[in-house]
Order: sequence, then C-alpha cells, then structure tokens
Amino acid sequence: MIRIAIAPLGSCSGCDVAIADIGEDFADLAKIAEIVYWPTGADPKHEDLEAIDYIDITLSHGSIRTSEQEEILKLLRKKSKVMVAFGSCACFGGIPGLVNLSPDRDEVMRTAYESISTDKGEWPSERSKVDGKILTLPKLYNLGHSHDNLVDMDYYVPGCPPVESQIRDLIGVAVAYSKGEELPPKGTVIAGTRALCDECKREKPEKMVIDGFYRPHEKEADPNLCFLAQGIICMGPATRSGCGTRCINANMPCRGCFGPPPGIKDQGSKMLSAITSLLAADKEVELGEEGLRELLERIADPTGTFYRFTLPSAIINRRLDDE
Ligand code: SF4
Ligand code: SF4
Ligand code: SF4
Repeated sequence: MIRIAIAPLGSCSGCDVAIADIGEDFADLAKIAEIVYWPTGADPKHEDLEAIDYIDITLSHGSIRTSEQEEILKLLRKKSKVMVAFGSCACFGGIPGLVNLSPDRDEVMRTAYESISTDKGEWPSERSKVDGKILTLPKLYNLGHSHDNLVDMDYYVPGCPPVESQIRDLIGVAVAYSKGEELPPKGTVIAGTRALCDECKREKPEKMVIDGFYRPHEKEADPNLCFLAQGIICMGPATRSGCGTRCINANMPCRGCFGPPPGIKDQGSKMLSAITSLLAADKEVELGEEGLRELLERIADPTGTFYRFTLPSAIINRRLDDE
C-alpha cells in the first residue's frame, strides 16, 4: 500500500468535493493506497501530521494565505516523495490570490470586518481573546501564494476544481507509482495540451472582430457562436484545454481556471494581446487611439478578469503601489 495525503490549505474545499465525487474510481485508489492524512475526511491534528514518518504522494490544495498554511505545506514537502499541486489555487494562487491587488492586509481586514454586511466588530489579531482565553492565531500574509512560490512541486492539476478525467489520470499516476513504473516527467501538468479554443466547438467567424464588450448578464448569448465574436470576454485563447469546455457547454464564457496554455507564462498578458488584436480590427484607423481606449474601458475589472486565477504566478504578481 502506498501512503497518500490530501491536504486542504487556504481552500474552499471544492477540491475535496471533486475528489470525493469520483465515486467508483475511488475504489481503484483504495486498492493501492492508504489515506494517511485528509483533514476533510477525518480530523487529524497538527501533531498527527508531524508523527507521520513519510508520505508517498500528497495532493495539496488551496492557496497559501497564512503562516500556518505555509508551515503545513513545508512539512508536507519534507515528508512527501511526490507533491501534486491540486486545483487552481495550489497551481497559481487562485481566486484568493486576487488579494494581491490590495496594498496590505489591513485593507483585507477592513473589507471583511467593516463592510456594510458585517457588524463593525473587533478585528481578530494574532493574539485574540476567545471565551476568556488568549489564543495565538496564524499570521495573515499580505499576499497570496501558489504552492511553488514556496516549495518545489512535482505535478500540477489545474482547475477550479479539477474535472473527473484529470483525477482519473492522477489515480493512474498513483497506480504507476505503486508498481514502481516510470512516472510522468517532473513539472507535468495533468490537463490538456492545447488552448481551450482548440477544443471548443462553437462557430468562429473567419474574420473575428470585437466592436464592444458586454458582461454575460448584459446580453443573451447565442449558444452556438464564439463568445468573443459576441463581445463577451471568454478566456479560451489564453486558457489550457482539458476541462471539456465545462462552462461553455452551460452557455457561460470561460473564466480561465485551467491557467495559461503550454508555453505561456502569463495568462493575463496573453489574453490582453488576443483581445487587442481582434478589437475593432476593421475600424482601427477610424476610431483612433482614443476610440480604442474607450472600447477597452468597457471591460469591467480587467485585472480581475484576465488574472482571476493566476495573479500570484503572473510576471507582475501584485499591486506595487496606489498608482
Ligand atoms: S481551486 Fe477552486 S475549488 Fe479548489 S480550493 Fe481553490 S477555489 Fe476551491
Ligand atoms: S473564445 Fe471561448 S467561445 Fe470562442 S472559441 Fe475560444 S473557447 Fe470557444
Ligand atoms: S471553461 Fe474555463 S473556467 Fe470553465 S472549467 Fe473550463 S477552463 Fe475552467
């Protein structure tokens, strides 16, 4: 039996649900593996993890936002022969990584504890009094991190959360490991090997021109036509394939959760370049720089749109100052 750990860090636990959802395939895993650490499935404490002498394969998910999560990630790396970044938060920083757009953690705390939807209570600090006892809490970092920002990782399974076929492929890796067979090369991304547009079946006009931008709720999308041709931002050109066009099949544009396609480091700048090459391609001269800028300004929250899942692993990975 090989030893497996499934470790939620700064996670919404959607990745755990995706693993639990694979149903019968889980039985294949059970034949070869013992799950020695899975806080969502049992209730191990930090001491229990410390007591484990080694782990064969760890799937770690969720981004890293606190000192405690960093400590657990480093402990897992020390004990594990193979570390798998499971899900977009682990691979790229994910949605929690959008915190990097805030200048510091005080802004985050203000948003969480002083917004119109919360009582303006006391912020928890690193030493908080709960039921009369002083508790030392983990330090909340200013920035969000992907796992390979902090430790060396062996494999990547992107997706928010990953889809069934990826989890089955991952089980295949575990089976190969258990038999001592050759494993995929270090750094392998368990997902597709093309851009999502290459596996999308929507009709793409021969000459694609974007002449305005609409948010998905502002327009009823034609379910057969490429979203971009309808002015709805779809991250397909800058996203790795492999999800089976999960969102597009539900008539929603891709939000980019599989991260950049092979060979691309920075998903947001790839998408920006794809959009600008299509923008008013037939009226560029007529509109001039000013007109093009006005069109681009219709994109709501460009950083959050183009880097929704990948900001901590982007080339410029945080807001540097208020400018
Ligand atoms: S990748 Fe998505 S599903 Fe997984 S922990 Fe992050 S937010 Fe949740
Ligand atoms: S941009 Fe979106 S809708 Fe258009 S082809 Fe690519 S994935 Fe499909
Ligand atoms: S369509 Fe895009 S956002 Fe949706 S699952 Fe696929 S990669 Fe993720």
